[in-house]
Amino acid sequence: MIIQKIEESKFTPEVFNIKVFGKAFTDHMLLCHYKDGKWNVPVIKPYGKLEFTPAVSVAHYGQGIFEGMKAYKGPDGEAYLFRPEENFERFNKSAVRMDMPQIPEEIFMDGIRTLVDIDRQWIPDKYGMSLYIRPVMFGTEEAISAKSSDEFLFSIVMAVAPNYYNKPLSLKIADKFSRAANGGTGFAKAAGNYGASFYPARVAREEGYDQVIWTDDATHTLIEEAGTMNVIIRIGDKLLTAPVSERILNGVTRKSILQLAEDAGIEVEVRPITVKEVYEAHKSGELKEVIGVGTAVVVNNYAAVGYGEEKLSLPELPAEDCFGSILKKKLVDLQMGISEDPYGWRQLVEHPIEA
Ligand SMILES: *Cc1c(COP(=O)(O)O)cnc(C)c1O
Repeated sequence: MIIQKIEESKFTPEVFNIKVFGKAFTDHMLLCHYKDGKWNVPVIKPYGKLEFTPAVSVAHYGQGIFEGMKAYKGPDGEAYLFRPEENFERFNKSAVRMDMPQIPEEIFMDGIRTLVDIDRQWIPDKYGMSLYIRPVMFGTEEAISAKSSDEFLFSIVMAVAPNYYNKPLSLKIADKFSRAANGGTGFAKAAGNYGASFYPARVAREEGYDQVIWTDDATHTLIEEAGTMNVIIRIGDKLLTAPVSERILNGVTRKSILQLAEDAGIEVEVRPITVKEVYEAHKSGELKEVIGVGTAVVVNNYAAVGYGEEKLSLPELPAEDCFGSILKKKLVDLQMGISEDPYGWRQLVEHPIEA
């Protein structure tokens, strides 16, 4: 790895007061080019612009994938990652589906560790805050024939993640639009999935909602995801979530929350969830929580769900009775190194011995 450090850091402690996500980038980025069938030596250099012509392949055909993960500062002042190997494996699964080359583990993992180590002062030490890490890969060949790009760029950029307020959001259950279909790219973090979801989200906002609850594309009768998060539903004292599939992304937060719930003695059922049973549970007063789970926001309890013309509001539970709040605290405490990690999920970012 080639490392070119910035001459003067842009860091100021004020960046930790930011309220928006994904704008306050750190001093450095990683770049690694793929050409002639092989990966070049990765380079870490000051964060900045790249040069492309409008013929760059990704702009035409959308061959692009990404990942999302975080670095946390523990009470010991050290930097930690959370289950990064899960993101590495998923990145390469996304790459296969998008006909892109595999990224070698050492480029992905050593790249993240070295970048986090170099920019460790950018990891906030406030509870619930973290440094968001965004690995991305896209086709960079200068060619406009409709084929797989011959050249790719793998990059990692990082930005300070604010502590999200649990602003009470309401979500519209999709009855027309779809995020994913069988045989498609729904399980991959493929750029186009997100591009295609922005318009349905806009329509939902125009109808007075904040986001979309995605349903199955064939019948719109099964609850699948919430915006760009997995969704967990509490009926009575049981948590329900759909099994991951070709259409449902295998979220690390979902997996971790389900494990924490089971170990806290909460009943968890992984099976297809129908819109009808959620509607009926609301009518009978058994629908307690609709929870979105994903790396960026971690856990979000929604305030209401729109079904057809009806807005089903969810009860406002005190934090000690809210499974979403209980599990969020368990997860964040573990990620930040405040609680024990019996699972081996946390990973220390070592300081390399450096002159
Ligand atoms: C990234 C993502 C998630 C959440 O995955 P995490 O690994 O928990 O961050 C869920 N659904 C979609 C569609 C996603 O892109």
